[in-house]
Amino acid sequence: MAGGDEVSNKQIIFKDFVTGFPKESDMILSSSKIPLKVPQGSKAIVVKNLYLSCDPYLRSRMNRIPPGYIPSFTPGSPIVGFGVSKVIDSGHPDFKKGDLVWGVTGWEEYSLLTLTDGDILATLIKIKYTDVPLSYYTGLLGMAGFSAYACFYEICAPKKGDYVYISAASGGVGQLAGQYAKLMGCYVVGSAGSNEKVNILKNKFGFDEAFNYKEEPDLNVALKRCFPEGIDIYFENVGGQMLDAVLPNMREHGRIAVCGMISQYNLEKPEGVHNLFSIVVKRVRMEGFMVFEHYHLYPQFLELTHQYIKEGKIFYVEDIVEGIEKGPAALVGLFTGSNVGKQVVVVAHE
Ligand code: NAP
Repeated sequence: MAGGDEVSNKQIIFKDFVTGFPKESDMILSSSKIPLKVPQGSKAIVVKNLYLSCDPYLRSRMNRIPPGYIPSFTPGSPIVGFGVSKVIDSGHPDFKKGDLVWGVTGWEEYSLLTLTDGDILATLIKIKYTDVPLSYYTGLLGMAGFSAYACFYEICAPKKGDYVYISAASGGVGQLAGQYAKLMGCYVVGSAGSNEKVNILKNKFGFDEAFNYKEEPDLNVALKRCFPEGIDIYFENVGGQMLDAVLPNMREHGRIAVCGMISQYNLEKPEGVHNLFSIVVKRVRMEGFMVFEHYHLYPQFLELTHQYIKEGKIFYVEDIVEGIEKGPAALVGLFTGSNVGKQVVVVAHE
């Protein structure tokens, strides 16, 4: 293929703003043309996308009113999210042809990326370790895994022996947060939405206890059973009724690190939370978390977690679908829990 030639480029196009649960039909498979050379004199990069990451926050970009920290998607343009890519051409001094990178890219076979300093949508990190599956940079060694690290160590203020509860515990973030907590010597309980996931939590990730929240008639009873002495740390991924049930079960000076609230993302009116006075009674600290504020810690996260992987101290479950056309179903599936582990879409093998 000659340098500046255009190639066809399959894309997943965001159709229009969404209310309620997202549907596959909110995204359309389309095809366009893209040159594989960056424009003369520009600092842009052309990448071939290998893996795409399905993340719950993508739902908030489908709202007409943006979530406040990131813009909404543009109807008619490709979905944009985290992925793993290979540099095809670069006008940027930090990247060269052949580099493997992870960061924000388009849901398409090839993307032209423009990196602007300080733009959270311009995150692009060169991949240092290739002795692990490259797909790990969508999850375990990418945004989800790094969120688990930064939220657990920076916000949860963990101590050995703490009683730790993690909701959506088998997902991209939760499975790693739980394993960090175990490695610190905490007592760790996770909840998830199927018996298969509960089994993985206990038998693959070494959680002390786990329960299927969909089979518990009373979440308060389930939490009391798992934490007769109460919870020191709640790693919050779910919100709503789960948060309400956790609050009265917190111990004095407990910490609630709010990583996400997936149960609320598709509701037009968020659910009310009734037990907030427990925060006063138990002097609980509740703090929100945003991963992009912590990127300066990525190198130390990478070294620690890569070491743990090599030593066999950390395991990671991925749910991998082949083909960009499977992306919409995979993304929508996050909101019914159809993913078992981190949801990844393969666009191309290297
Ligand atoms: P994930 O767990 O891999 O996928 C989402 C899971 O959420 C589903 O598999 C499902 O598992 C569960 N879920 C879906 N709807 C639910 C509901 N109504 N009630 C309870 N559980 C529900 O996703 P992830 O990437 O690890 O993300 C987990 C949380 O972290 C999300 O809230 C996400 O927004 C948040 N997050 C925040 C940041 C940040 O910077 N603040 C960064 C990354 C992620 P079940 O089968 O268990 O229901």
